[in-house]
Amino acid sequence: MRKGTAMDLRIGQGIDRHPLVPGERLRLGGVEIAHDRGLSGHSDADVVLHALCDALLGAAALGDLGTHFSDTDPAHRGRDSREFLLEVMTKLKGMGLKLVNADLTIMADAPRLAPHVPAMRQVIAELCGVGPESISVKATRGEGLGPEGRGECITAWAVALLHRQEEPDG
Ligand code: MG
Repeated sequence: MRKGTAMDLRIGQGIDRHPLVPGERLRLGGVEIAHDRGLSGHSDADVVLHALCDALLGAAALGDLGTHFSDTDPAHRGRDSREFLLEVMTKLKGMGLKLVNADLTIMADAPRLAPHVPAMRQVIAELCGVGPESISVKATRGEGLGPEGRGECITAWAVALLHRQEEPDG
């Protein structure tokens, strides 16, 4: 396919889930949220950024987050997932790929996420080098059903669309 055409689009999806437990801090979409429980994982367990990274890597057919940032590597213990996203964006840039938009859905019965959505959109947009109008964050509840509804975990889904930038003439 000729590079830089309107058809040079790539789509990716990602999903992530971490246990919601006492004694951990809660960080979602790069934003610290005050709550009596938090997400447990090898890194900071930010399911929103992990799902987004997987969607971005998927769109570029670059594998998944674990391929690039192994959860058995001590170097990634407690790591800020904003750094993962920045590194993923650098990889995409190196391939001439730019984010068109991303749509993220978070399922959690508690805490209430709506007040934090604008901050998440702003943080993610800045990390991705796009405007907040290109980043959608939606929150939904498990309504008492499934592990999210029972408050055992938080799950996030992401879809991302990439566009290959036109190469300079000559
Ligand atoms: Mg994860």
